[in-house]
Amino acid sequence: MAEQPDEKLVLASIHDVGPRFEREVDQLLDLMVRRLDGPRLAMLVVPDHWGEAPLAKAPAFRRRLRTWADQGVEMFVHGWFHKDLARHYGAAALKARHMTAGEGEFLGLDRAEAARRMAAGKTLIEDVTGRPAAGFIAPAWLYGPGAQAALDGSGFALAEDHWKVWTPGSNRVVARGPVITWASRSRPRQLSSLAVAAAARIALHRQKVVRIAVHPGDTGVPQLLRSIDRTLCTFAGRRRIGRYADLLGRCGV
Ligand SMILES: [Zn+2]
Repeated sequence: MAEQPDEKLVLASIHDVGPRFEREVDQLLDLMVRRLDGPRLAMLVVPDHWGEAPLAKAPAFRRRLRTWADQGVEMFVHGWFHKDLARHYGAAALKARHMTAGEGEFLGLDRAEAARRMAAGKTLIEDVTGRPAAGFIAPAWLYGPGAQAALDGSGFALAEDHWKVWTPGSNRVVARGPVITWASRSRPRQLSSLAVAAAARIALHRQKVVRIAVHPGDTGVPQLLRSIDRTLCTFAGRRRIGRYADLLGRCGV
């Protein structure tokens, strides 16, 4: 179907894809395939989660990634280790501690190290899938100044944070609006993410692009899975299920 310029889209993604969370990814994929009428989603792949789950040493999982990519799943590079191994100072330290539980890998990296990890991730994912990576998305959607600078010369077509999707280099914003996501880390965070998702199901219908992002930890909380299911149903029933690549052909917003 030809895309209409102002057609509303829903974009869905699974974060933290890698051998470490294979069971959880399978569970999330099952749910999403059911609601999205096929594997019409993106995966955010972590090359070596916490330094403990290297894709390089997981040939069976690499084959699965390639199969999913062949079926149309868009593959993003999602950091390298995911975990924040850098030391932070001042406001960045506060942000890292409170927002990410140490998972904001690209918040504290300098430009050279950020560029090195981005390039290595791109090469790895492109070797695995046999096609260009869909883009780069920093763990916890957090980019420090070094990561921002490195993105410009990275060659990635797209990047996103919690509030927007943009094209690195030209820095053209191609989608705006908060991503709907869930937090499983503590009961208060679960409850607040359930409330935010419920509000989003009502409030975001006028938004051109709605993004829905799920994480492996969500699978351990039945209430979160029910909310995810309901949210997918709500938006998939009213919008075209799009691809991030669709945003590249659109006018800036
Ligand atoms: Zn992540």
